[in-house]
Amino acid sequence: MTPTLPVLLTLDQGTTSSRTLAFDARGQMLASSQKSITQSYPHPGWVEEDPEEIFVSQLDTLLEVMAQLENRYAIGPDQIAGVGITNQRETIVVWDRLTGRPVYPAIVWQCRRTADICTRLREAGHEALIRQKTGLVLDAYFSATKWMWLFEQDPGLKQRAEQGEILAGTVDTWLIWRLTAGRCHVTDVSNASRTLLMNLQTGQWDDELLALFGIPRAMLPRIISSAGRFGTIDSSLVPGGLVMAGLAGDQQAALFGQACFSPGMTKNTYGTGCFMLMQTGSQPVFSHHGLLATVAWDIGEGLQYALEGSVFNAGSAIQWVRDELGLIDSAPDIDRLAALVPDTAGVQVVPAFTGLGAPYWDMHARGLICGITRGTNRSHIARAVLESIAHQSQDVLALMQEEAGFSIPSLRVDGGASVSDLLMQMQADISLIPVDRPAMTETTAFGAAALAGFGLGLWPSLSVIAGLRQQGHVFTPGETSNQRDEQRTRWQRAVAAARLIGGSEA
Ligand code: ADP
Repeated sequence: MTPTLPVLLTLDQGTTSSRTLAFDARGQMLASSQKSITQSYPHPGWVEEDPEEIFVSQLDTLLEVMAQLENRYAIGPDQIAGVGITNQRETIVVWDRLTGRPVYPAIVWQCRRTADICTRLREAGHEALIRQKTGLVLDAYFSATKWMWLFEQDPGLKQRAEQGEILAGTVDTWLIWRLTAGRCHVTDVSNASRTLLMNLQTGQWDDELLALFGIPRAMLPRIISSAGRFGTIDSSLVPGGLVMAGLAGDQQAALFGQACFSPGMTKNTYGTGCFMLMQTGSQPVFSHHGLLATVAWDIGEGLQYALEGSVFNAGSAIQWVRDELGLIDSAPDIDRLAALVPDTAGVQVVPAFTGLGAPYWDMHARGLICGITRGTNRSHIARAVLESIAHQSQDVLALMQEEAGFSIPSLRVDGGASVSDLLMQMQADISLIPVDRPAMTETTAFGAAALAGFGLGLWPSLSVIAGLRQQGHVFTPGETSNQRDEQRTRWQRAVAAARLIGGSEA
């Protein structure tokens, strides 16, 4: 392949790895590099990472990709138009402005250490205000209580933050600050919308929320839009320096990369869990059933919003079939095993290993396998596991449709488990809409590159970006509507049972 110049790079800083990817001017992927990151679990439920390792691993992959471009295609720094950044969301970093050294490990989004703070705030009656201002739920997952916890541990740190000696941010902010040698302290609206500190309507830090969580404004970054030049990577790090022009949290970048540009357009990422986002246009949709209202992006045309729902266990259920049940040797084998039977013969699996997310929000629910008979075999179980992923996604999709009121033209899919043709066909049959899997499933990284491409004027319109998304396969719903309704009823009964087992009244 001969690349079309210039090239865009994406820094994709994820929960378990840092990656850099290169795309050419037609959106073709040219090179990639990945380095894993160590997570530490100092106490049950705590999750930390080393901010220094986050930065160094990210920089290493950037340099590695630049070397690949040079070696394979003779593409040098002057042919790289710019860089987009996308990142694990909600994770916090706090550092010393003068020395640039982190003062505490990064507290990762998964970390539950602030569950008690959330309970305290809920009991004090703050939840409704928080929901109304941020579109989020009061949960340890989001950034604000993580900072609050740090300041409760070390009140001196808060004082220093008030005096401007301590800076803070999410992972995007930390990376950019380091990449610009401390010149640029920013975050974009999509990342800021995950902190519990940003007013969803104004796209600015909210004084009432800052006071509620006790967060000094002086330590927070400036909120910028998701596309447009905002800084240059320091030439001491990268030859020639590189312009940064795109920035969004990982799920929002994927929504952009899937070209979900008008209200109702929806993507689902099938990874360990599932992340579904629906574009809702210029107005946020506030959910009454635990979906999150969030900023999709601002690319200079005002804030665009999304509705977000997640399924905790999806690909992890396939891993469970592999690792705990030992029915398959590797995840891709699940299709072959499940295809040996035409249906699950009434077997249901509810993989509520860690409770159930939207729309149930039942942390006590526990998984089950039910409907088994003397004839149930491993293929039925494998098939029921795949179906459970499609059913859980449909639970979120149906809720989104109901709460947002938009019709959903198709479901755009990506993530590791979207490779399963059988799962994608089940999703189309269960959701009764086409399931559209692009040829290039690196949509998160592509989304960040596309934001940079838009910000630099290389890809001057959304229709140009939509045109770069290459169609892979569209799975259309089969004619199984009777069966489908029965399947849904059986699934819902199984979910009710999983909740009863966990002690909840479903
Ligand atoms: P994450 O970013 O959450 O780590 P990925 O997008 O890398 O997730 O997807 C990993 C998940 O995809 C794993 O849980 C695995 O079970 C599943 N997976 C990977 N390949 C396949 C496949 N060919 N068929 C079905 N599932 C798969």
